[in-house]
Amino acid sequence: MRSPGVLDVTDVKDPSCPTGGALLKVLACAVCGTDVKMLEQGHRDLRYPRILGHEVTAEILEMDVPSDTLSIGDRVQVWPGEACGNCPQCLSGKDHLCPSIGIMGFNMEGGMAQMMSVKDVSRLVPIGRTDPVLLTMAEPLACCINAQDKLGVGRGDTVLIIGGGPMGCINAQLARQRGAGTVLVSEKEQERLRAVPTSLFDEVSSPDPDELRKMVRKATSDKGVDIVIPCTPNVRLDKVLFDLLAPGGKICIFSGPRKDDSPLPVDVREMHYHEQMLVGSYGNSSDHDRRAVQMLSQGSIDLSWLITGKFSLDDARDAFGHASARKGQKAVITI
Ligand SMILES: [Zn+2]
Ligand SMILES: [Zn+2]
Repeated sequence: MRSPGVLDVTDVKDPSCPTGGALLKVLACAVCGTDVKMLEQGHRDLRYPRILGHEVTAEILEMDVPSDTLSIGDRVQVWPGEACGNCPQCLSGKDHLCPSIGIMGFNMEGGMAQMMSVKDVSRLVPIGRTDPVLLTMAEPLACCINAQDKLGVGRGDTVLIIGGGPMGCINAQLARQRGAGTVLVSEKEQERLRAVPTSLFDEVSSPDPDELRKMVRKATSDKGVDIVIPCTPNVRLDKVLFDLLAPGGKICIFSGPRKDDSPLPVDVREMHYHEQMLVGSYGNSSDHDRRAVQMLSQGSIDLSWLITGKFSLDDARDAFGHASARKGQKAVITI
């Protein structure tokens, strides 16, 4: 990416193996909604030109450090963060909140390339013989694990997903896996739900507030939902959403709010008397990432249906086109 709106496929110098790190041959890299947003609008962490891509699987070509768990030729998934390892956040398992973290595809070169390097091999999670294309879903799944751990999604919960794109679908599938009773979705482009298994959502509505209210009322017999996860920036966290909550309900600030979003008017009395919670969630820790790799490689969650487009590196622009058209679901660049 040369600047907002300008994506180029070009030759660059091969990276070398950093001291104490590893050199990787990229196998696959998925396109994230954030990549599309970055290309359209730029991002506070981007320096140009930048190789994008943070949902990456790769093969180890070289390693400059002895390892008990990794060898040359191993296939791995790459946790996107490069954290310091010594601060209170890193030491308490919240390394994604490390104040000095770098993130590949943002402020370090990412995975939409034939090769990449990592300075810290602890970011590499072995995937064995599982499909490297499927395992690119580990990073977005890890973001959902982070959110749903914070929300405590569990048995019998009624979950409302706003936006039926890839993150909405992964959150829905994960909520099912954790035992949620009812999963609802609101989505403007209902065509994009064609790839979705019919059992994933109990009810679908348009984002129109009246339709949304009607769906929640009907599906919960007027009780309201336990959890709301907005998975699109095109939603205001306003009274409409709070009014859909059952007592004790929680809303996650999951999708990155827009820069120009005005401050949120929150009814703190309602929040107090009904013990409502508003929970922030951004990215994922290396622990969430490992759990996501494990779930996908053991088959305890199936996301293979989510990949609706595969593209070569030369056709990277088409992969972005697939993701931004919002007709299919996930686009993956295979290398
Ligand atoms: Zn992402
Ligand atoms: Zn740190």
